[in-house]
Amino acid sequence: MSNLFYQGRGRKPVLDQARGVYMWDTDGKRYLDGSSGAMVCNIGHSNPSVLAAMQRQMEKSTFGYRLHFETEASEALAGRVAGLMPPHLTRVFFVSGGSEAVESGMKMARQYALATGQGSRWKVISRQPSYHGCTLGALAVTGYASLSDPFAPMMRPMPKVPAPRAYLDGLDPEDEATGLHYADMLEAQIRAEGPETVLAFLLEPVGGASTGALVPPAGYMRRIREICDQYGVLLIMDEVMTGAGRTGRFLGCEHWDTRPDIVVMSKGLGAGYMPLGAMIADERLVEPVLDAGGFAHGFTYAGNPLACAAGLAVVEEIEAQGLCANAAEMGEKLIARLHGLMQKYEIIGDVRGKGLLTAFEFMSDRNSKAPLPREIGAYQRFVDIAYERGLIVYSRRTHDGYSGDHILVCPPLIVTEAHLDEIIDGLDRSLEQFTQEIAP
Ligand code: PLP
Repeated sequence: MSNLFYQGRGRKPVLDQARGVYMWDTDGKRYLDGSSGAMVCNIGHSNPSVLAAMQRQMEKSTFGYRLHFETEASEALAGRVAGLMPPHLTRVFFVSGGSEAVESGMKMARQYALATGQGSRWKVISRQPSYHGCTLGALAVTGYASLSDPFAPMMRPMPKVPAPRAYLDGLDPEDEATGLHYADMLEAQIRAEGPETVLAFLLEPVGGASTGALVPPAGYMRRIREICDQYGVLLIMDEVMTGAGRTGRFLGCEHWDTRPDIVVMSKGLGAGYMPLGAMIADERLVEPVLDAGGFAHGFTYAGNPLACAAGLAVVEEIEAQGLCANAAEMGEKLIARLHGLMQKYEIIGDVRGKGLLTAFEFMSDRNSKAPLPREIGAYQRFVDIAYERGLIVYSRRTHDGYSGDHILVCPPLIVTEAHLDEIIDGLDRSLEQFTQEIAP
């Protein structure tokens, strides 16, 4: 028996090595990493420039506590990240992961409210379903009942509004009226809570694991900004999964006319080389907090020089290799190919995504949008079949009694068309096996 445990008893093959989009286990079996781990390894595995940058940093120092030293690596990465943000987002606060970044964003918003005489504001409205992390603060704003219910007595409940799943509600996502319909729900929620109590609205610009690459309908992103402005509510964009080029732009929210007050990112920033995340805030928020005595928040490993050196090299690779553009181009091709699979397999009820954050959803009936029966455990079974065949994809079943099993296909942003052929071939064969297995 191993001393190690994660979520269950299942054991996985042992990872030996990984290069580019491929990974090998200790039996020599090769896998194509079609989910970039958990949508993390955006620039592929074992990138030589990143490894060299880490080696150089390791030889200088691997830790400098933030209350004792600034480090060149964290200063350089902060400058680089700020340069990639919308111009008003100039202040960067480093953390080691996505949950920490979300916590930091919410606490920055709260301290800004306190520093500016708005202490009645504390509620963070988020969406159902959504995923924002597993620490208790991030879990309180996560709309995913099976993850948060066990801990409900330990958390302050936060209000939720429905995520705009137009495809399930039979609405046209291209029609502005659809976006306004869902944005209206945010306005109604703010009014119901009492606007003077609402601190922020938190959302993923393109949904991640919770909704399976949900793309907002036309008009939605612009209108939620207007609503936030109208009621003095801060807009926090969770770019933990979408950031660092995944959707074809450096930030996912750049696809729309919206202006976040705070951006949080992680996964693709460290890209699997080191645990790293960042909360990037509008100077207008940070200055009053610093004037009022400082940001009462911080983690021991914040701004770790090795993590920041890796992050800097990752960002340089994203730019040098034009990976945002490649994600946009390959993403379009991937979505077209997934639509091809949808034509072939009736069981695929929807295909969606942006850049290389793509997904398809299983349905037992495309017209009624009914999910597959839960007993099939489709999301797990399909992933297992693909894994057996050497293709790694990511999946979830949204546990809100309404949406079904979705499979996320999110390879590293370095993929070529030949890799896409391999992914589609692996999915095709896996779908063939899966549909035979569940045939009555
Ligand atoms: N926010 C989003 C959108 C995520 O997808 C995740 C992780 O999947 C998190 C936050 C939490 O990140 P972490 O697992 O690094 O704490």
